[in-house]
Amino acid sequence: MVEINSGYLDLVPNYLFKDIADKVKALKSSFPKAEIISLGIGDVTQPLPKVCILAMQNAAAEMGKIETMRGYGPDFGYPFLIQKIQKNDYQDVGINIQEDEIFVSDGSKCDISNIQEIFAKNIKVGITNPVYPVYRDSNIMAGREISFLPCREENNFVPEIPEEKLDVIYLCSPNNPTGTVFTKDELSKWVEYAKQNKSVIIFDSAYKEYITNPELPKSIYEISGAKEVAIESRSFSKTAGFTGLRCGYMVVPKGLNGYTENGEKISLNKMWARRMATKFNGVSYVTQRAAEAIFSLEGKKQVSEIITYYMNNAKILKQALEKMGYTVFGGENAPYLWLKVKNGSSQEFFSKLLNQAFLVCTPGSGFGSEGEGYIRFTAFATRENTMKAIERLEKVKL
Ligand SMILES: *Cc1c(COP(=O)(O)O)cnc(C)c1O
Repeated sequence: MVEINSGYLDLVPNYLFKDIADKVKALKSSFPKAEIISLGIGDVTQPLPKVCILAMQNAAAEMGKIETMRGYGPDFGYPFLIQKIQKNDYQDVGINIQEDEIFVSDGSKCDISNIQEIFAKNIKVGITNPVYPVYRDSNIMAGREISFLPCREENNFVPEIPEEKLDVIYLCSPNNPTGTVFTKDELSKWVEYAKQNKSVIIFDSAYKEYITNPELPKSIYEISGAKEVAIESRSFSKTAGFTGLRCGYMVVPKGLNGYTENGEKISLNKMWARRMATKFNGVSYVTQRAAEAIFSLEGKKQVSEIITYYMNNAKILKQALEKMGYTVFGGENAPYLWLKVKNGSSQEFFSKLLNQAFLVCTPGSGFGSEGEGYIRFTAFATRENTMKAIERLEKVKL
């Protein structure tokens, strides 16, 4: 008899998403010819930038020759990629991050769910509601209790600074699912809170490229003092369509400390380096060359065209929904629209939209109890499907 990790039993099975999949499947079998359009899932639809394809072809050719083949790469990423990240994503915007503070990985979901391993089981974790479920579930698996921070319309979907002392707080900006973004002032309050409480913020900025307002922070390190309290996770998934290729990075500053039971300071950067060296063998050479390519002049241009394409979808969809009389949040600095349901529950809205218009959205309640009363639309569809979705929305009674 092997005793299992009982944390897994505490996970709340997400019946909602299974229910959505079942309902879509049922509709497909009743109307096999129906064209179902999805504005539901958070995955990209546009192909990879051409620079990435070329870089991968070249890298693949190198792997085929004895002079240039590569075996295991460095645990934390190839210097050619780390240097581009350091320069373009930080130095060029006035943030000083060192190369050995950057850890290249196979994506943000893995980083964000793995990072909790370096903290004690009995720490207090703060997670927003609604939320990207990975923060919550990875901590439940580890057997931790969670304090939820409600994000509501009256606070612009930004969590209020809590009275209690939280040790690790997960913040996501631009936010999935609400599409809202922290201002510098709002983020500064969290950095201040973390300093006072010796807490650590895990800042997920997977959607940073979607920020169009230059006043809004793309990195938590734009806030002074954040290097002493924050880890930043980023991904090429939504930036450059790498959801199927897998590459991202995490910044763990050297000035960031955790503490032993006796109050002795321990560098989190060293702990994370040890974790990566022991449990990870790096992202493939071919993939890292593809990631490097997006930092070239041509790469930046191609990436920006893709982002503009999605953001135009967001704009068109948001304007149309507002014209129809809906209250819609997000969609201006994020690829998600958070629509307030006029009557009934999120799930009822979802069902009506699916059955009357063959259109898929995501009920807000799937992201946490505070998501009830909202649904999420994504801008990651094709333009054609976005336009069709609008036509259908205009016709249905919801
Ligand atoms: C899509 C997404 C990510 C990126 O995950 P990858 O594992 O890098 O593909 C991270 N955080 C949020 C909130 C996301 O929606």
